[in-house]
Amino acid sequence: MLQLNVEMLKRVQGDPCRFDFLAELPPFELQGKNLSFPGPVKASLVVNSTGSALAVEGEVSGKLSLTCDRCLEHFDYSFEVPIKENYTRSTEGGGDEVVSFAGDILDITPEVIKSIILSLPMKAICREDCRGLCPSCGCNLNKDRCDCGKEDTDLRLSVLKDLIEKSSK
Ligand SMILES: [Zn+2]
Ligand SMILES: [Zn+2]
Repeated sequence: MLQLNVEMLKRVQGDPCRFDFLAELPPFELQGKNLSFPGPVKASLVVNSTGSALAVEGEVSGKLSLTCDRCLEHFDYSFEVPIKENYTRSTEGGGDEVVSFAGDILDITPEVIKSIILSLPMKAICREDCRGLCPSCGCNLNKDRCDCGKEDTDLRLSVLKDLIEKSSK
């Protein structure tokens, strides 16, 4: 969980508070897929008390385990997302732009996961030159070689040969 102890910001106003730490993030679901973090994420945040609200700004970086859309292998996707969010104590009520919280612990996990989801590419590809799976036999062309492509050309050639033989008759 990405939690900030903002107790001291209750008393001191005006002085921004820096938070640099590593934290474990829980797995989350996206489009029916369960996504998890292979290790802790790094948070570098500054929290400013504006009197009525706490303004959190900074970035969170780390790795997310994804499945390649082409070869279906797992790979670590590196992300670095900006965080900019305003929080207000629940007793003061929140507006559209503000997330409310209670107590001295500010849990920014939901907003961070939202930012990570927004940063994800439309298609998750393990590497730019991923060769994917063979459409005929399903083998991973990054690791294995198959003869499917070869047979295709052989087949086309033999059809051509047949045509030539027929037309010459
Ligand atoms: Zn791949
Ligand atoms: Zn094949």
